Amino acid sequence: MTPTKGFLKGEEEIKNNLKITLSKFGSVISFHYICIIIIKTNTMKTKRQLAEKQIELQNRVIALANINIVTCGHCGSVLLHERNDELITCACCKHELDQSDCPDLWYEGCQNNSEFDEEEILTQEISVEDVVRVAMDLGMNPSIAEINEVLKYYDNEVEEDPTATWDLIVENLLYNCVAPK
Ligand SMILES: [Zn+2]
Repeated sequence: MTPTKGFLKGEEEIKNNLKITLSKFGSVISFHYICIIIIKTNTMKTKRQLAEKQIELQNRVIALANINIVTCGHCGSVLLHERNDELITCACCKHELDQSDCPDLWYEGCQNNSEFDEEEILTQEISVEDVVRVAMDLGMNPSIAEINEVLKYYDNEVEEDPTATWDLIVENLLYNCVAPK
């Protein structure tokens, strides 16, 4: 292993730590694997965060305009009404309903409903080291380009099959991305 030029401060330490970890697997790892660490962050908001935003916006409408947004307790249509109206007459079904029979469209706590579950799936992260480890278990020796292919397609595969474990996804991608030697 000959170090390449241009290391930044701190990389030497990362390299050594990874070298120790990887040497446990008893194989010679290309020096380049150790140099590349990709941490993927997902900036897309979850459904739950988006629902929280809706609640916040509805609260601002109430606070600024004194108008509430509810759903008709009879037909489910979305209705606006003055906050202090005791009775609400639906514009769609003409039923006259008590305010307590017309639930707020967005209300504090609704973000916890199961329809907004998903964030566990969106926060997965894998690194080069993870890919190398799975590859070694399979007796594969992927190139840097092939590892980058696996990382590139990883998120798509998670979306395709959210119930699959991360190492199974990596395994399948390795079979697809690594050319037979
Ligand atoms: Zn109605």
